[in-house]
Amino acid sequence: MFDALRRWRAHRVLKAQAIPDPLWREAWDGLPFLAMYTDEERTRLREQVVLFLDAKSIVGANGHEVTPVQRVVIALQACVLILNLDFALYDGWENVVVYPGEFVPRWEWEDDAGVVHRNSDPMAGEAMEGGPVVLSWADIEASRDYRESGMNLALHEFAHKIDMGNGEANGRPPLPAAMSPDLWAQTLTAAFVDFSGRVDRSEFTAIDAYAAESPGEFFAVLSEVFFAAPALLLEEYPAVYRQFAHFYRQDPAARIAGAATLTRLALD
Ligand SMILES: [Zn+2]
Repeated sequence: MFDALRRWRAHRVLKAQAIPDPLWREAWDGLPFLAMYTDEERTRLREQVVLFLDAKSIVGANGHEVTPVQRVVIALQACVLILNLDFALYDGWENVVVYPGEFVPRWEWEDDAGVVHRNSDPMAGEAMEGGPVVLSWADIEASRDYRESGMNLALHEFAHKIDMGNGEANGRPPLPAAMSPDLWAQTLTAAFVDFSGRVDRSEFTAIDAYAAESPGEFFAVLSEVFFAAPALLLEEYPAVYRQFAHFYRQDPAARIAGAATLTRLALD
């Protein structure tokens, strides 16, 4: 009964809040990595974007006015991560807050001596546990093409949200029953130790060195790479690629010319 109700409601939302073609095309064309998706996936993504925009509020801060195309650009990147997963991974929070540029978060913390510190570092994005996703529009714009920027802010912050589905963002998202938590932890930890070592030794890394900050950042940064530059992740950390392919239920590298053989090997 509940499922039937949910389907009926989704059907009504999809009909009433459909995205006009020109708006959809403009948002889609601004995100080059989406070219890998088939027409069928494109249709499903479009439906998920409508449902996402119905379920979440995307609001401007510091005088920023969120335009219709910005709403779709943000929702699209959130939905890429859950294309083949349960929408419930995004339950438990409501808002996406968009600043025009970098922002200084207002959180404070108390150290062991009881001294209260206030954060003063500007940030491009933040995902808060049980709270909003906060994004700088300038940084979403600057990172929409991974080939130029080597990062993708929106994918990064929504990956943190998925990771937080079972508590803090620690690189251990809620895995489906068919996946082994031990294998996930071993694979991700081994890669994190290797990557952190390379960063500590000041070696060049094609993957953003920020991934060495913590296991939570490692998961978020590698999720960006998995979707926006899949062949790179497959080459650098094939075992992580394999775990991500099972987790996200997508195999983006298989879509990239030349990487098809590699990915077949990696997924065996
Ligand atoms: Zn992060």
